[in-house]
Amino acid sequence: MKRYGLFINGEWTHALQGEFYEVTNPATGEIVGVCADGDEGDVERAVSAAHQAFPVWANRTARERADILRRSYELIVSHKDELGEIMTLEQGKPLAEAYAEVQYAADFVEWSGEEAKRIYGETIPASSPDKRIWVHKQPVGVAAAITPWNFPASMITRKIAPALAAGCPVIIKPAEQTPLTACRLVELFQEAGVPKGVINLITSTRAPSVGSAMLADERVRKIGFTGSTEVGKILMKQAADTMKKVSLELGGHAPFIVFADAELDRAADEVIASKFRNAGQTCVCANRIYVEESIGNAFAERLAQRAKKLKMGNGLEKDVSIGPLIDGNAADKVEGQVKDAINKGAEVIAGGHRHTKVGKNPGEKAHFFEPTVLLQVTDEMEIMQEETFGPVAPIQFFNSEEEVVKKANNNRYGLAAYFYTQDLARAIRVAEGLEFGIVGVNDGAPSTAQAPFGGFKESGLGREGGKYGVEEFLETKYISVNIK
Ligand code: ADP
Repeated sequence: MKRYGLFINGEWTHALQGEFYEVTNPATGEIVGVCADGDEGDVERAVSAAHQAFPVWANRTARERADILRRSYELIVSHKDELGEIMTLEQGKPLAEAYAEVQYAADFVEWSGEEAKRIYGETIPASSPDKRIWVHKQPVGVAAAITPWNFPASMITRKIAPALAAGCPVIIKPAEQTPLTACRLVELFQEAGVPKGVINLITSTRAPSVGSAMLADERVRKIGFTGSTEVGKILMKQAADTMKKVSLELGGHAPFIVFADAELDRAADEVIASKFRNAGQTCVCANRIYVEESIGNAFAERLAQRAKKLKMGNGLEKDVSIGPLIDGNAADKVEGQVKDAINKGAEVIAGGHRHTKVGKNPGEKAHFFEPTVLLQVTDEMEIMQEETFGPVAPIQFFNSEEEVVKKANNNRYGLAAYFYTQDLARAIRVAEGLEFGIVGVNDGAPSTAQAPFGGFKESGLGREGGKYGVEEFLETKYISVNIK
């Protein structure tokens, strides 16, 4: 079993209070690792180290930073099996998904490293022959990253790779449920040659006080966060006091619209992939399925058949495609939404039940929910308004394009939306009409390292991925030179 300290100024160290906490496997309830439990004092140590490292790192050439990121990419990819297993043990997702996430996480490191070499400035024609206008990009400074448990590797690399590419040192606070993947990743970055103080890691069970300490410190100039809208709002308020740059990747409530002219089998496969990936615990999971009425029952039947075939269990076991939910609270929320829907008239056409023990999994502390499909769903049901974060697909029928786009937009979130149609003109109209940061047209899996990932409305601010992600860690300086 792994035991990790905090990583500060290039060294693994005890938390100031000397405390540790246990990490459990959500599929079994077993303890799979131990991590240091850091607090505000440790944040102070990490910020000081990062602050000291800032000029050193910022003054490395782009080429040197890119080389280190390239080596980090190669190390992550060559440790894909090990990282994937750690991830499944602490997070529960099926191994195949964990391996795919490690590659996705590595892709951000590779792409950001390449972008490091393309942080270009600009010259602008002046209004006077005696002046020169230069636009120069500089790293914003020390960056903090607070990440969730649903993607233990990629939510970290999506923040720290562009930060390092831009020349910013980082302090990472991973989710308390999934610190082991973060610790191993940090070891690999260190092995790749990231200098001391440039990456710091504070694992902790005290997220509110650790977060507040990071945000109160004026030396921290940027906060990158992925998590709930509720916590994102707290962080944005705290960031205001020292006017930090903020990037917030928050909740979502993705509509998945299937028009009658869609290729139904393909669309059904993609709904299943989008909805049930990570047991429904992603912010871009399809959360509302709108199906044109003329094909409604036929499509619902396809979904139910496919959902019933998904094998639920411990993600380490072969053929399992639905792992456990992260904890009891998550299962309570999913169960509550399903009960609310049933009480208000929904019909269960697949799944519908919660379990503690599945297959060979020995635990009673685990929380599973069957892949579930609901019909006769109405807008008054909680599931149509609030994020589910579980394997439940509620289906509602619609009759016109105008009606469904209106319904899709009628939500406080605006992260991802998907639709299936073969009509080109409609594809353009609907893609432009949806108030979402990410739109998949006949594509249920649009996320990729080079594209701008982020939401409209209460789904957040800023973008992660590609050149957009690097831009978030840069300041724009305008230099005016009078040559007279
Ligand atoms: P989730 O529902 O996915 O757990 P959270 O928003 O609660 O989402 O958590 C995302 C990350 O934010 C985790 O690393 C968690 O520890 C951290 N976090 C939770 N509450 C706070 C807070 N008040 N201040 C700073 N970080 C927090």
